[in-house]
Amino acid sequence: MKLAELTKESLKASIGLLPIGSVEQHGPHLPMGTDSIVAESVAQEVDKLERDTLLFPTVYYGCSIEHGNLPHVSVNDLNFMSFVYDLLDSTKRLGIKGVILINGHGGNSELLQVVSRKVNFTLMRPKVKVVNLLSLEEFKRFDDLHAGTVETSLMKFLRPELVKEDKIPVTTDYSEHTFSLLTSEKGGTDGIVTKGTIEVNVEIGKRVFEEMISLVRKEISTLRSIINE
Ligand SMILES: [Zn+2]
Repeated sequence: MKLAELTKESLKASIGLLPIGSVEQHGPHLPMGTDSIVAESVAQEVDKLERDTLLFPTVYYGCSIEHGNLPHVSVNDLNFMSFVYDLLDSTKRLGIKGVILINGHGGNSELLQVVSRKVNFTLMRPKVKVVNLLSLEEFKRFDDLHAGTVETSLMKFLRPELVKEDKIPVTTDYSEHTFSLLTSEKGGTDGIVTKGTIEVNVEIGKRVFEEMISLVRKEISTLRSIINE
């Protein structure tokens, strides 16, 4: 059920799904909203499959300082954490007991862990679980830190009209210090952070998308066991 389309009388779900992404450059071939589009698509699909979930409007803006002077629209870490904390705190008025944060952007991961700790240990409700979609093994397997084979294939599966295949560099490389000491601007190839040739493969995209859905559903069942105790 989509929160933004319900009346207050029809708010009956017990678990909220909050997709969170970013608005940042994804190389010359993928759209700025890639992380948000992926997180939102996963959340929509999960909401269709589960009973008892409430789909929140997507938080498109995240913390993207790791992209230096390359195009991004984002907020700083402290503001981002406060914003998400406030959203979660206000959900007590919806009658929900738990919220799954479905995160599609690597730069948000640690910040969301801090927020979920604070909410879980200081508020009565909701109980919060963070699901980092980029934690899937496939990203490591294809050495995709940003806008590489996995993200490109996911977008090819979800929104093929937004993938500019002719813009993909013939080969790519990155410094091992990218995203720790270096921004993607300094450490990657044209804003991309991966090695070798980027594969555009709908099958990979479909498989990863399905794995993301399973990951979120697994966390929902964990959260259910806690909130129903
Ligand atoms: Zn991304």
